[in-house]
Amino acid sequence: GSRPLYLGIDFGTSGARYALIDKQGAIHSEGKRTYPAVGQTTNWASSWREALFQLLGDIPSVHQPSVSSISIDGTSSTTLIIDRNNGELLAGPFLYNESFPDALPMISSIAPANHTVCSGSSTLCKLVSWWNKHCLNGGDDSAILMHQSDWLLWLLHGEYGVCDYNNTLKVGYDPETGSYPSWLMSQPYSHMLPSSVRAPGVPIGPIKEDVRSQYGFSNDCVVCTGTTDSIAAFLAARTTDPGKAVTSLGSTLAIKLVSRVRVEDARFGVYSHRLDDQWLVGGASNSGGVVLRQLFSNDQLVTLSRDIDPSSPSPLDYYPLPKKGERFPVSDPDMEPRLEPRPDSDAEYLHGILESMARIEASGYKLLKELGATPVEEVFTAGGGAQNEKWTAIRERVLGVPVWKAEQTEAAYGAALLALRGATTGS
Ligand code: ADP
Repeated sequence: GSRPLYLGIDFGTSGARYALIDKQGAIHSEGKRTYPAVGQTTNWASSWREALFQLLGDIPSVHQPSVSSISIDGTSSTTLIIDRNNGELLAGPFLYNESFPDALPMISSIAPANHTVCSGSSTLCKLVSWWNKHCLNGGDDSAILMHQSDWLLWLLHGEYGVCDYNNTLKVGYDPETGSYPSWLMSQPYSHMLPSSVRAPGVPIGPIKEDVRSQYGFSNDCVVCTGTTDSIAAFLAARTTDPGKAVTSLGSTLAIKLVSRVRVEDARFGVYSHRLDDQWLVGGASNSGGVVLRQLFSNDQLVTLSRDIDPSSPSPLDYYPLPKKGERFPVSDPDMEPRLEPRPDSDAEYLHGILESMARIEASGYKLLKELGATPVEEVFTAGGGAQNEKWTAIRERVLGVPVWKAEQTEAAYGAALLALRGATTGS
């Protein structure tokens, strides 16, 4: 085929997926790979690299010559320290959920109060923790920081220092001014930060010739900046007007709302990503599918849901959590899970849990509004819970706005849209 196609690859928590789309957004091919096991001689980075090249090889050969651009998303704040002299991994990967509270006192002393970097798992904490251990007595100028998607994209284009303004948020970059703040630039490790921070989905450069020829991609195939996995999943829903939102009902319950106003509140873990001229405000509850998974198999969820009447409110008032502690929409590290009383009927139990999660979701949107965000008008749904039509109906009643299943929910599809954008809008 001579028609150009655009490749998006998502590096999520459990595996990597690709989606290959055309200009209209139709999917021509998709696939996934789980990460090869990490063992004594391998690490996460080599496992991701293997998955990346396996996926490139998985693209049907009939489509490979049509691949015109590539973008990749990765888990936010997943961090690698790389030697820019030879591309070797010096430290990490530090995974998205790894916490380095040892760096917090130093960061709190330089960053504004409640800044998103003031969290033990922020990229900046990872960087500072590493710096304190290795470079306090004179650093090595060749060490640089890369996010997961920077590194994977770098394997394809080979240029150092390029990143996007979504991934850099948690290292302290200010997407509003388009620069690192002075409190960060004055630090001795500032030379490690990505030097060229761009919008997601803009061309970085041509794909390396050896990679291009190995997979037979288009002669003018370009590699484009990526984003984080949750932004990519949001982009997949293709809804970018203020007031539109995407709730992700995966392991956790996460909401993302397009807002005219930038909103931040570290107490609740609420922060805004830039989305062109708007802001994407997000918050994530610890409640979510992980609790459902502890109680029911996916088959049971389907069967039990059949017996739920979504138009009648459940009288059961739970706060489903996998373990102690909640952050959004209630900031309470000591909050205990509440999943009792358990009725005899499993369908009634499930109804109560789904309805309670819908109330958490509604409180989430309410909190964002109170913090100054554009009020929610319409919600699209992603994640495993989006399949559940009964839950959708319950949520519509509780939220009081239209709720839909997003047509596309894969982060890989969102990354493919970035690739499309990069190939068709120019730099
Ligand atoms: P992850 O965040 O792990 O990628 P997914 O988006 O794959 O999660 O969603 C998986 C979650 O969706 C599981 O926790 C599961 O309990 C939940 N789930 C799966 N099927 C249903 C269903 N029919 N109704 C509600 N929840 C479901």
